[in-house]
Amino acid sequence: MELKIIDLPKLINKLPKKDKELFNRFYSFEISDSKLSIPTKMETWIKNKFGSLEKVKNQKVVLINNNFTKEGSLFNELRNLRPIQKVEMDLKKIEKKENCNFCNPKNFTPYNVFGRIKGKYCITAVNVAKYDYFHGLVIFREHNPLKIKKVWLHDYFKTADKWFEKVRKTDMEAKNFFLIWNCLWRAGASIVHGHMQLCASKMQYGKLDLLAKISDEYKKKFDSDYFSDLFEIHKSLGLGLEIKKSKLVFYLTPIKEKEIVIFSKEKKFEKLSDLVYRVLQNYFRLDVKSFNLSLYKIKDYWILHLVDRGPIDRKNSDIGAMELYGNSVISSDPFKLAKEFRL
Ligand SMILES: [Zn+2]
Repeated sequence: MELKIIDLPKLINKLPKKDKELFNRFYSFEISDSKLSIPTKMETWIKNKFGSLEKVKNQKVVLINNNFTKEGSLFNELRNLRPIQKVEMDLKKIEKKENCNFCNPKNFTPYNVFGRIKGKYCITAVNVAKYDYFHGLVIFREHNPLKIKKVWLHDYFKTADKWFEKVRKTDMEAKNFFLIWNCLWRAGASIVHGHMQLCASKMQYGKLDLLAKISDEYKKKFDSDYFSDLFEIHKSLGLGLEIKKSKLVFYLTPIKEKEIVIFSKEKKFEKLSDLVYRVLQNYFRLDVKSFNLSLYKIKDYWILHLVDRGPIDRKNSDIGAMELYGNSVISSDPFKLAKEFRL
């Protein structure tokens, strides 16, 4: 039988007492039977769009919150089937290299005062309009961000690590590293050409600072590790995988669609490139084209997030006031995602 997020009560009941207690320590949730009435003239349209009148009349909504971080999601798989306005989109446009400054980075991108770091398949630059003290770029040699090879990705991470090392030598105080990859416009990228962004700040970012504090307090209160306990919960529900020194979860409170979080104790984050490559291959198989990746360090954990930002021909943004100020609205089911992934 295919498991879904609405099966959570049943799954939790089956867990051993220890796992059940751990789940309840971390999460609060409620499942609502949300009913509505449909005018007769709308019935045919509903049947065509959603496949069933009953499904629409009796919707199940799952609200789940992490009790520590207060990350929260609202799941309703029907959201996937609702009509969405599209824009005309020719995927071949992604390949267009005319007037692409990143295809000629040495002449058309600024660089750090300490120079550029050259990888085999990439080169570093500086964002022309920085948003932090140190704000670098890893510009891929390949223009098309959806063309990725395992060795290329390893080289991007390795080059990013060298850039961070250089920054550390330039200013010891710029010790808070943050790596991001916004792939295509839905994910916030202003330039199509494949690139990652590297930030190093003196003061930690708010959300990261909060997570570090939560994990410290958790350690004091429960004499246990926040991240490994979070992983254990996911694993007990079939949503967690251990791969070498990394733990991967199909996140129970995703920020948007298909969020995957990796907690890793690898010494260097370049070691994560193979796993990230495999996750991306799965994303591409599931037709994900625009995604965000973020990577940062808390204590001895590298924490990496990957999230799908929706089909690139959608007219509407995937984020509204609910995501900005309330809980995230999600139509992809982490249980379904775990089943679809081949890692
Ligand atoms: Zn280019």
